[in-house]
Amino acid sequence: MDQSTLVSNVVEQVLRQLGPQLQGRASSNGGGNGHSQTANTPSGATSGGANPAVGRFTNVDEAVDTAARAQQQLAQAGVKVRDGICKLFKRMARENAQEWGRIEFEETKIGRLDHKVAKLELLEAIPGVEFLQTNAHSGDAGIGLDEAAPWGVIGAITPVTHSIPTLTSNAISMIAAGNAVVFNPHPAGAKCAAMAVEAYNRAIKAEFGIDPLLCTMDPPTLRTAEEIFKHERIPMLCVTGGPAVARAAMKQPKRAVVAGPGNPPVVVDETADFDNAAKSIIAGAIFDNNLLCIGEKEVFVVESVFDQMMDAMRRAGAMELNSQQVQRLTEAAFTYDKDHYAVSKDLVGKDPQVLGQACGASVPSGVELLFGETDENNPFVPEEQMMPFVPFVRARNFDHALELAIKHEHGFGHTACIHSNNLANITRMGQACNTTLYAVNGPSTGCLGVGGEGYPSYSIATPTGEGVANPLTFTRFRRVTVSDALRIV
Ligand code: NAD
Repeated sequence: MDQSTLVSNVVEQVLRQLGPQLQGRASSNGGGNGHSQTANTPSGATSGGANPAVGRFTNVDEAVDTAARAQQQLAQAGVKVRDGICKLFKRMARENAQEWGRIEFEETKIGRLDHKVAKLELLEAIPGVEFLQTNAHSGDAGIGLDEAAPWGVIGAITPVTHSIPTLTSNAISMIAAGNAVVFNPHPAGAKCAAMAVEAYNRAIKAEFGIDPLLCTMDPPTLRTAEEIFKHERIPMLCVTGGPAVARAAMKQPKRAVVAGPGNPPVVVDETADFDNAAKSIIAGAIFDNNLLCIGEKEVFVVESVFDQMMDAMRRAGAMELNSQQVQRLTEAAFTYDKDHYAVSKDLVGKDPQVLGQACGASVPSGVELLFGETDENNPFVPEEQMMPFVPFVRARNFDHALELAIKHEHGFGHTACIHSNNLANITRMGQACNTTLYAVNGPSTGCLGVGGEGYPSYSIATPTGEGVANPLTFTRFRRVTVSDALRIV
């Protein structure tokens, strides 16, 4: 090694080691939160801090520059390479599921370790380049092709509830469509996001020779989110999160795919198979301790079968809280602030046993879901509470149950569920709720291919109408025509 190479290597190494400190100083000037180092370093990821070479940035402009360069390389490389990158991501997510699931769980401290792992394994089923379509036209005047072209660099905001899964699912769909991406993850899940971005970029570089296609803000702040929203070289946004960020994204003067909040109601009528309904409600609501935006959050049961449904829940292994315990849990889970309820972060995504401690119930270790009778005014009903406790409300009849379901879904149009064998009721509720996902006689997860049919995604875009995000969501259709030629007959 000559002397100048040696010096530049040493300088690079020192800068990398100083990265976190420099970044901490920069963020104290700029108002963001500095990151401590990530303790775990699997799959070739370094131990944390900004490192543009592997896609970790403090500066949005630099991130966009890098992503734009990488996107050009991807365009040159072609669709087979995109396919290879998507398969590489799926393989890495599968092979690292145990370790990355644990790292995400330890950082975010919400949900369930087994389901953090399952969510990474589920990425195998995210659609890739095979989902892209070319529509062809042919006639006397020649031929035309409508092709699904990339947008370029996409800005993506991801939630704390599924940090690496949303990042990876978005990355697969966006890269399959030919794009690069700049992420602003939730600060509470940003270390694991940066670790995964780095590992993916290193693997892309090693296998395909392409620079960081995934760039992430490290640390992400509201300021970097705002800069991504406004950046003139980011023509498209994909925002997955709660009401505030969904509203902010809808206001941007550019194309936005907005995957916002839900509060999925379940209706059970007289004709339901109660054991199947109980099994399904439990399967959907226990997933990651009910952190999923699609998870069953409140149940409206027709009065004449209410007791039968509660019996079925007990038989299926859920634990019922009595009215005093429900009252105590409600007081622990919510505070009323001026004109709205705030959900206690200490209980969001926690195990039923932790909820039990909060309300004086001794919950055995195998119990995965708590349930209990409430009226519709209990905040567990209208609030998107993301806890493994599901309130059951008596409805006078199906009309009343449907009315309550519509009211407490709040017009999000996200997800609704029904358990019924009455086709007219099933049809009426589907039409009236008009949600992106509608689960009939199965768990909400069925709509994403777990206990039902359909491909998965971690971004369900309702306010902007794309539905279950897939590679086509991140394309723009362009037409090329060839006049008076190439048509054989
Ligand atoms: P959150 O809204 O607190 O945060 C989501 C992301 O938005 C984070 O990266 C956060 O830093 C950012 N953010 C928040 N306010 C912002 C603002 N004003 N400007 C810019 N960025 C902002 O949500 P969360 O707790 O991380 O996730 C749970 C919420 O996300 C729930 O409401 C859930 O329903 C929703 N969600 C929806 C989907 C879907 O596909 N529709 C998927 C997952 C989660």
